Amino acid sequence: MTDKVVGILGGGQLGRMLAASASLLNIKVVILDVGTAGPAKQVVFPVSPDHSHIDGSFADPDKIRELASKVDVLTAEIEHVDADALDAIGTANQSRLQIHPHPSTIKIIQDKLRQKEMLQFHKLPVAPFLQVDSTPESIQNAIGVLGLPLMVKSRTLAYDGRGNYVVRTIDRIPDAIKALGNRPLYVEKWMPFRKEVAIMVARTIGGDVKSYPLVETIHKDSICHLVFAPFRGVTDRAKIVAENAVRNLSGAGIFGVEMFLMEDGEILINEIAPRPHNSGHYTIEACETSQYENHLRAILGLPLGSTELKVPSAAMLNIIGASSSMSEITSLTRVALSIPGVSVHLYGKSECRKGRKMGHITIVGESDAQVRSRLRPLLEALPNGSP
Ligand code: ATP
Ligand code: MG
Ligand code: MG
Repeated sequence: MTDKVVGILGGGQLGRMLAASASLLNIKVVILDVGTAGPAKQVVFPVSPDHSHIDGSFADPDKIRELASKVDVLTAEIEHVDADALDAIGTANQSRLQIHPHPSTIKIIQDKLRQKEMLQFHKLPVAPFLQVDSTPESIQNAIGVLGLPLMVKSRTLAYDGRGNYVVRTIDRIPDAIKALGNRPLYVEKWMPFRKEVAIMVARTIGGDVKSYPLVETIHKDSICHLVFAPFRGVTDRAKIVAENAVRNLSGAGIFGVEMFLMEDGEILINEIAPRPHNSGHYTIEACETSQYENHLRAILGLPLGSTELKVPSAAMLNIIGASSSMSEITSLTRVALSIPGVSVHLYGKSECRKGRKMGHITIVGESDAQVRSRLRPLLEALPNGSP
């Protein structure tokens, strides 16, 4: 298919599913992450010493350089990488190394404030936002402009809502500052959305975009809990907005665009992920080409596969740790294995923790009603205390 070797920064579940997808096309991958047997490294046996994985941080320039020396194309399963190092490595190895998406894209996206400024610059719809300092005065001034409740967000290193704090009353401002630590902050107006929706968009090296169906995402405690595909509702505007956002970024690959659908039908972009995304896991079983395979095809300059659904309806349920107990995950999995149309993905994480994504379950069916009835026993089997 291709002789090019792909280097992946990050070896978590997204890297694991990328690597599994790469193996189907016999694409060789080398993974950089701390440890020797994380979720992604478990599924790829290095075919030669040249292809051995690297034990180190995706935020360490030396380790990124080591990875770059072994591969032809670099990509990332996480945006919290050292984007400047990546950029310098790309420039130094221009003739033989490709990096997708472009490090400048990763750099913009990894800082949520810069990401919002970029979207606003391109006249794409976002919630009103302001930069703030980590001081009570600065946040109080922002409340004066954007009102309460106010969503305070860390600009960097956010995931699963862990960089967010909702200030509902002025006396909670110090708690927000404490909870978000010393990270640089910004704030967003609270958006009372009707629904959250998301769409995966693939972008080729030439800049063409192709999107998957719009899906509904349901979050619990700011962590993605359920995804329903396709979203039944007006979807044209969301697709146009998401595709335009991805057109304005550079480099190839798959992008996840999270959006709010407001009561009046307005669509706002919440955030963009420059990589495969939780809301696109369903594509493995429910679409003609998965988000993972299309990411690989896009970064390797291969033809993109169809993004169409191949089933009438699908859902995805995240398996999220409720405690340190792995046995709760095992019992949920046993229930899942007895239901038709259900596929279980376990990520091979060595320890379970409350709020940690341990796996996911995809449910496909002939109708929304069938998918919902297959989903019901799974929701009933969720461990007590799961988010
Ligand atoms: P992810 O795991 O998706 O990367 P994250 O940590 O980057 O999450 P966000 O996507 O910014 O966090 O926010 C998490 C959730 O919080 C959103 O999916 C949404 O439910 C809620 N949320 C975020 N911003 C707002 C807002 N301005 N108003 C209301 N709710 C919001
Ligand atoms: Mg995020
Ligand atoms: Mg998000």
